[in-house]
Amino acid sequence: AGYEPTRPVPVSPIRPDNTAYMIYTSGSTGRPKGVAVTHAGLAGVTQYGAGLYGVTAESRFLHVCSPSFDPSVLEWTATFSNGASLVIVPAGVIGGLELTEFLAAERVTHTIMTPAVLDTMDPSLLPELVMVQTGADVFTPDLVARWAPGRRFLNGYGPTETTIISSYAELGADRPVTIGSPVAGMSALVLDARLRPVPVGAAGELYLSGDALARGYHARAGLTAGRFVANPYAAGGEPMYRTGDLVRWRRDGELEFVGRTDFQVKIRGFRVELGEIDAVLASHESVQFAVTLGRQLDSGATVLVSYVQPAPGTTIDTVVLA
Ligand code: ADP
Repeated sequence: AGYEPTRPVPVSPIRPDNTAYMIYTSGSTGRPKGVAVTHAGLAGVTQYGAGLYGVTAESRFLHVCSPSFDPSVLEWTATFSNGASLVIVPAGVIGGLELTEFLAAERVTHTIMTPAVLDTMDPSLLPELVMVQTGADVFTPDLVARWAPGRRFLNGYGPTETTIISSYAELGADRPVTIGSPVAGMSALVLDARLRPVPVGAAGELYLSGDALARGYHARAGLTAGRFVANPYAAGGEPMYRTGDLVRWRRDGELEFVGRTDFQVKIRGFRVELGEIDAVLASHESVQFAVTLGRQLDSGATVLVSYVQPAPGTTIDTVVLA
């Protein structure tokens, strides 16, 4: 009570294509890029959550995603648009039995988690958890077999540049792992290097269009022009976002994720452009040249390995570089 803003709050009409929020993601030049996401995109994901998750005023949605990871926005919109409760994970609880026990004690019903975190938890302790959405990274059918029985299990796919989620699949233990088909308002094209559609079953690059496309990268017009390109199949040449993801259409109309066309990797669901690490390493005076690779461990987890060449007359101190 009694709160008075020190300055008048600027009031101007908000249009659907105005920026609602900006979120930074890895950039290969060493500078992260700010993705400017619109109100239209936000409205779309709010509708997606409302229509699909089955959240009611009795639901208890987990808030586990960090604000730098865009599914956190989906946690809020799905909760608040349905009058549900948001259960906030205490700082420092990041997985395993500790997180599982927290969900059980708080009677959490809905959650969005990366496959890496889910993999550390025990679903048998969570009878009240009715919906899990995972995504942001690839995972194996094992994870589905452990988590899908007894609850809805969704695979959400989407780059930050298309507002969190562009397609989803409802998975079950007896179904292949796919990224499903586009959400309402979004359309997908799978094209070859000359922007021609590839046949069903062949791998091509995924391009996405629709109202949920971001405005672009904040103050990076060149980068924006390279990724938000004109759709040759739309009458008005509307933009489509070039994802850098290789996918293929299946006969049943669902999309299968195949891999990347570039040097972007996911580390526990976190998007990293390897060039960004090379640029930072090479800026150190002891380094002449650096190359970083994403290596897969036997466990399936990806780790970063950097190879560095010393500048003439210097020795490299790997502890300093790390
Ligand atoms: P998020 O991590 O929120 O999905 P990012 O913009 O950080 O969004 O990363 C998007 C990239 O993550 C995609 O271009 C794709 O390479 C990968 N990705 C996202 N969802 C999936 C998924 N369900 N399966 C496989 N890869 C995915």
